[in-house]
Amino acid sequence: MRVDGVASPTPSPTPTATVISRDAPLYDTSTRASARDFEHTAMFEVLNVPLAFAFACFRPKRMSKPTTSRSPRPAHAASDRSSMSRSIVVVGGGNAAGYLVRALVSADPTLGARTLVIGAEDVAPYERPALTKGFLHKESPPRLPGFHTCVGGGGERQTPEWYEQHGVELRLNTTVTAADFKSRTVTTSAGESIGYETLVLATGCGVIRLPEAIGGTLPGVHYVRNNADGLALVEAMDKATKAVVVGGGYVGLEVAASCATRGLKPEVVMMEPHVMARLWNADIAQHYERLYETRGTTFHRSSKLKAILADADGKARGIELESGAVIDADLVVVGVGATAPVPFTGLDAPEGRVGGIKVDSRFRASGADVAPGSVYAIGDIAAFPLKLADNEIVRMEHVKHARDSATLVGNIIAGKSDDEYDYTPFFYSRVFEHPGTERAVNWVFHGLQRGEIITIGNLDPTLAAFWIDDGKCVGIMLESGAPERVAALAAAVRARKSVDVSALRACASVDDALALVL
Ligand SMILES: Cc1cc2nc3c(=O)[nH]c(=O)nc-3n(C[C@H](O)[C@H](O)[C@H](O)COP(=O)(O)OP(=O)(O)OC[C@H]3O[C@@H](n4cnc5c(N)ncnc54)[C@H](O)[C@@H]3O)c2cc1C
Repeated sequence: MRVDGVASPTPSPTPTATVISRDAPLYDTSTRASARDFEHTAMFEVLNVPLAFAFACFRPKRMSKPTTSRSPRPAHAASDRSSMSRSIVVVGGGNAAGYLVRALVSADPTLGARTLVIGAEDVAPYERPALTKGFLHKESPPRLPGFHTCVGGGGERQTPEWYEQHGVELRLNTTVTAADFKSRTVTTSAGESIGYETLVLATGCGVIRLPEAIGGTLPGVHYVRNNADGLALVEAMDKATKAVVVGGGYVGLEVAASCATRGLKPEVVMMEPHVMARLWNADIAQHYERLYETRGTTFHRSSKLKAILADADGKARGIELESGAVIDADLVVVGVGATAPVPFTGLDAPEGRVGGIKVDSRFRASGADVAPGSVYAIGDIAAFPLKLADNEIVRMEHVKHARDSATLVGNIIAGKSDDEYDYTPFFYSRVFEHPGTERAVNWVFHGLQRGEIITIGNLDPTLAAFWIDDGKCVGIMLESGAPERVAALAAAVRARKSVDVSALRACASVDDALALVL
């Protein structure tokens, strides 16, 4: 096996504030930070695990309307067990909300009956990453209730019945429109005012939509953020003959892989010179681009979208690039990133362009009227200090962080933990996993994106890349690694082991390179 990789010419500087986003916007937007992309991911993205109710004996009484008790008290202190009578209101019924509830009832089953989850979607919390993976397959795609949380993290499948059995009230199709931190109440789209003692904000991100003026809202233009978007996209894919994908990041590449598999000959348009520009260098990217190309995908690199074109019926019929080139397509999918709008005023924000809600190392939010420990923010919306990166304030739009932050906060609220968050960024993607695939692609990244990148190997059979900062290995990416190998990566990057860079470059195989670094 040949040595494939070389160091990137210019090591990236250490940033001072970071949004750890999955996808870079292709279309300019001021709502998004442009810092480098850390990615993190879930080790277990297991769908359809058997339902097993571990809490069969527990049946608490239904929750009465949450109280409006006002006495400020620290919610995290392990010694503060007396505060268990408080009501917990969770805003946002997504990935993090599901893991939070799981942690709460695991730590203390009586908390279920004191917990209310208010979510804007019409389905119980689910593993959102599924939407652009097997969900888009033509054959046997997973559908809800198959991938409700917490199956991706190796836990139970929390169907609406699960919440009921655990006494948790799940209010779906409901948006929280306002919060009054002084009186500790939130107001819903139904006009209801609900009191809380502990409020957990898990409102996630919203997808970036292209402006109407350039065709971003035409029928036939698809964005993927929620289950309804995913279902609409599948319906359109089933009828389509040719696809254009705008954006060469995670969502763009996952959708493009499904389009390619379905024979829709996707053309991927991106402003960057190569795919996954926020994580990979050109050297890593070329391996994946070649694989996509052999499966019928065309890339338009360093290309900017001018407009989405409409046919006589006002439906999207393709796109025009700024170069003047026109690409015809009956399916247009846009994956140009996400924003994390803060749903309420009155909460402290991080400095700079990180966005989201500023929290401390235990995800506690603050604000003029916020009693200490009464409001938490978790998942994509939380701007938190990343200990591993010298407490740099970051947001992470990745599922493992959603799960881990939710689990920690659930334990803190339950009085089972007083730990600070000490997270190792972990990102992943999986494509071409359809039945009969010639080769599935499945990579993971652990650690920090700092310094030069050394790539070893290729996709025949596998490759690895190492981020070397000041002679130490701080980040590792591995393609199709065995689970025990993948599990060892996090420890390796946390150890920041010194690496003989010349010896690493000279490694003839991924096995040799990992033996040197792990
Ligand atoms: C298509 C797709 C694929 C992805 N793939 C991966 C992947 O492969 N790997 C990875 O690491 N990450 C992936 N992610 C990112 C991952 O899904 C998120 O990091 C994770 O879902 C964040 O969890 P969350 O609970 O913070 O937000 P979400 O899961 O987005 O949940 C937020 C919920 O809050 C609701 N909400 C918002 N505002 C309100 C309000 N005011 N009132 C009530 N409800 C509200 C929203 O409707 C939503 O249901 C993917 C994301 C998408 C969209």
